[in-house]
Amino acid sequence: MEDTKIFLSEKELPEAWFNIIPRLPNPPAPPLNPKTGKPVKPEELRPIFPQALIEQEMSQDPWIEIPEEVKAVYKLWRPTPLHRARNLEKALKTPARIYFKNESVSPPGSHKPNTAVAQAYYNKKEGIKRLATETGAGQWGSALSFACKLFGLECTVYMVKISYYQKPMRKSLMHIWGAEVYPSPTDRTEAGRKILKENPNTNGSLGIAISEAVEDAVTHEDTNYALGSVLNHVLLHQTIIGLETKKQLDLIGEKPDVLIGCVGGGSNFAGFAFPFIGDILEGKLSAEVIAVEPTSCPTLTKGVYQYDYGDTVGLTPLLLMYTLGHTFEPPGIHAGGLRYHGDAPLLCQLVKDGIIKAKAYPQTSCFEAAVLFARTEGIIPAPETSHAIKAAIDEAIKCKETGEEKVIVFNFSGHGHFDLVAYDAYLEGKLEDYDYPEEKIKEALAHLPKFPTGI
Ligand SMILES: *Cc1c(COP(=O)(O)O)cnc(C)c1O
Repeated sequence: MEDTKIFLSEKELPEAWFNIIPRLPNPPAPPLNPKTGKPVKPEELRPIFPQALIEQEMSQDPWIEIPEEVKAVYKLWRPTPLHRARNLEKALKTPARIYFKNESVSPPGSHKPNTAVAQAYYNKKEGIKRLATETGAGQWGSALSFACKLFGLECTVYMVKISYYQKPMRKSLMHIWGAEVYPSPTDRTEAGRKILKENPNTNGSLGIAISEAVEDAVTHEDTNYALGSVLNHVLLHQTIIGLETKKQLDLIGEKPDVLIGCVGGGSNFAGFAFPFIGDILEGKLSAEVIAVEPTSCPTLTKGVYQYDYGDTVGLTPLLLMYTLGHTFEPPGIHAGGLRYHGDAPLLCQLVKDGIIKAKAYPQTSCFEAAVLFARTEGIIPAPETSHAIKAAIDEAIKCKETGEEKVIVFNFSGHGHFDLVAYDAYLEGKLEDYDYPEEKIKEALAHLPKFPTGI
């Protein structure tokens, strides 16, 4: 029998990240300064990002070399295995062959350290002493804490207050990796103090936590800000996932027919899919590429393609993307990492151009898929990841009906070991599905920035 896991040796770790920008059919729309409506100038980003990352954000180079120091850290868990999901195939009685790229084997348990490590490295190299960031459920905060510790940087995490108290385990990870973690809003920043004065019992929000982290970075010379998704340089660092997957499929002589990933801000999906999309754009590969999101936060499937703020408060540059409106607050589904009002501009552009398809699923159907996966393949998926699994299962069932032996490959973005409370709720039948929040989306779309719209 053929192998169940396909490994690469450390020597086969990719040497460079893949930049999709120079291969796009249309050039990407620039981020705009919300005050002037003009494209953001690189120097406007200097107070919060190191020069190397600003250059990567706008780079036209097709490949960007991965520094030796970053590769050395990647080797703590990379290259990650590609698995053939034979037990799942059997359970589904599908003629399809299902593979998944296992990003859950990293120390923090998801794909997020692929960029956290790179960001910590470039900041350290440019003399920065500390990184400030926000985190919701704690996945990004724990990945950045881990990365900062390995490069000798301090790390300050503003964690949304309600998660800080409801999800204490990820906070423990951050503490073990040496970060300072504060329930946001705090009295450490102007933004936090203002909110606390207005509403001392607030639960906090990702938007407020972003404002605090950015303010911390702007007001301290030795401190920068780090973001875990959406931006071009984050997607770039994540392409290590897709580059390895391509090598692994080549090793066993497989070509993907369907590529699937879940989308919160778009980083694991893009990192997995962009190297394949490069081949699709060059006519070397023909495959369906599917981005999966929750029905309760249907950015790609129900949003509008327009310039909007990246954060809830309205501080960041305007990005051209599918958006539900920056004031949209999605229902409290358990896939916390998928509750974002917008998506990465590069990903949105490829959806707009028809190269990527988007699909949405309600959370109980995703938990059902996750439990089937755990009971066949053994690994317990993160609630975010379960969206990709659900879509892969649906594709495999379609193959059963048509008899097609398709090769379905999805990205397993992370494990769910810190999400067991959500699994309990599902197993006890207490998990709700939310209807498509049409009224709330309509209201949020009415708050889109009025200007500039002419694109
Ligand atoms: C953060 C997270 C996501 C969503 O973020 P993307 O930037 O869309 O990848 C998905 N899966 C896991 C496990 C995560 O931690």
